[in-house]
Amino acid sequence: MDGTTFLAIIGGGPAALMAAITAANVVHGISITICERNDRLGKKLLATGNGQCNLTHAIDVASLFGHFGNNGKFLRQAFNALSPEKTMEMFETWNLPLAIREDGKVFPASFHSGDVLQTLLEQIRKHDIHVLYNWHVNEVIRTTSGFTLINSHKESLTAKTLILATGGITYPATGSTGDGYAIASSLGHTIITPHPALTPVKTVDTSITQLSGVSFEDVIISKVNHTGTSILSKGSLLVTHEGLSGPAILHASRYVSTNDTISVCFIPGENKEVPDKQTFAKYLLALAATAGAKQLKTLLASLPISHSFIEWMLAKLHIDQNRKAAEISKIQYMSIAEVLVDSHFVVSLDSCLSKAMVTAGGVALTEIKTSSMESKICPHLFIVGELLDLDGDTGGFNLQVAWSTGYLAGLHAVKSIDR
Ligand SMILES: Cc1cc2nc3c(=O)[nH]c(=O)nc-3n(C[C@H](O)[C@H](O)[C@H](O)COP(=O)(O)OP(=O)(O)OC[C@H]3O[C@@H](n4cnc5c(N)ncnc54)[C@H](O)[C@@H]3O)c2cc1C
Repeated sequence: MDGTTFLAIIGGGPAALMAAITAANVVHGISITICERNDRLGKKLLATGNGQCNLTHAIDVASLFGHFGNNGKFLRQAFNALSPEKTMEMFETWNLPLAIREDGKVFPASFHSGDVLQTLLEQIRKHDIHVLYNWHVNEVIRTTSGFTLINSHKESLTAKTLILATGGITYPATGSTGDGYAIASSLGHTIITPHPALTPVKTVDTSITQLSGVSFEDVIISKVNHTGTSILSKGSLLVTHEGLSGPAILHASRYVSTNDTISVCFIPGENKEVPDKQTFAKYLLALAATAGAKQLKTLLASLPISHSFIEWMLAKLHIDQNRKAAEISKIQYMSIAEVLVDSHFVVSLDSCLSKAMVTAGGVALTEIKTSSMESKICPHLFIVGELLDLDGDTGGFNLQVAWSTGYLAGLHAVKSIDR
């Protein structure tokens, strides 16, 4: 099928759907076409929040920016245009009751992601937005009057204005395979190397994986490099059969690459700081001085760590856990302190693409107008959602990016034609 439309949107995820609905609300009766490579829309949306869809976070706009690393300020105008509060209102107006959990995460009241998708699809139908399924865009050509999209069957679609909403490169089974990077690059954009974020990591030394299933309530993750260490995250950690996971690791993964070394402090100080190793060793020695007759494993059991961790640590350090605390040397207490407050792990993010919740990196933000999501390089091209160099914390922040950037682009894509 060769065809023509006023506004073409490549991708059928949350950012695309919000953009299409917004554009249709601005100018009624305008021809809008969504090109989706899958045989249905919103495949990744269905997988969100373990199938429950944490669609946003009940938080004021001023507190929102901090959840996007260094790139939060790029989103100021998008969040002002469509804040979490307005997003919630919008879904409720569309007859989707919502539930706000105590931690601020917002879900559909049914806790079924399918209901969020159905709500959006009803709006798509209501506005007669045209959807081309199994329409895998391979190439976009800039023409004097707009854009020509060519799919994998060499069919074409011409459009006056274009929204690129192909998502990131993670969870590729949902259709987000990173095609948008090549398309944006062919239209003149710079791509910040995409890599998985919000992902468990593998540890190159697999010894810790013997503790698979063991969790820690409070750890501090730091990145280690030649200049020292910098704290990346604090929170709970879970050991997996391949390495490390849990909220603290998911959050830190945004800042690490394969072969980086991270340090885990398993026993943070009272003020949630990483204790000094020497001071911690002295503390252990002082404990041993008051209870030298106790077995070492019993002495260490007074610390907030599991028995299995103590066993694993002492085996790794070749220290007999049944020896008396008084028989352990200063050097051995120093090595125990080191494992407890500064355990180093070389990590790998290879093969994490299939598991990562979001992609860090993407289309360079400096090339996008913050007020509209329009390209500064290619007029009438708009770029939205996870395809941009944006990634947020867990908690509904990534979908909020999709809603807010999609909304802004939808508003301006139809207005841009007056120029
Ligand atoms: C398991 C999982 C759970 C998550 N849970 C949450 C959560 O609870 N809360 C939250 O805020 N975020 C969550 N996220 C992140 C969130 O899902 C994404 O950030 C969001 O879906 C990005 O939306 P998007 O529209 O930019 O891209 P996507 O949702 O990735 O949609 C892109 C669409 O483009 C299509 N496409 C790609 N290339 C082409 C092409 N060449 N031609 C045509 N179509 C194409 C794809 O098939 C896809 O349908 C989760 C992610 C995962 C993987």
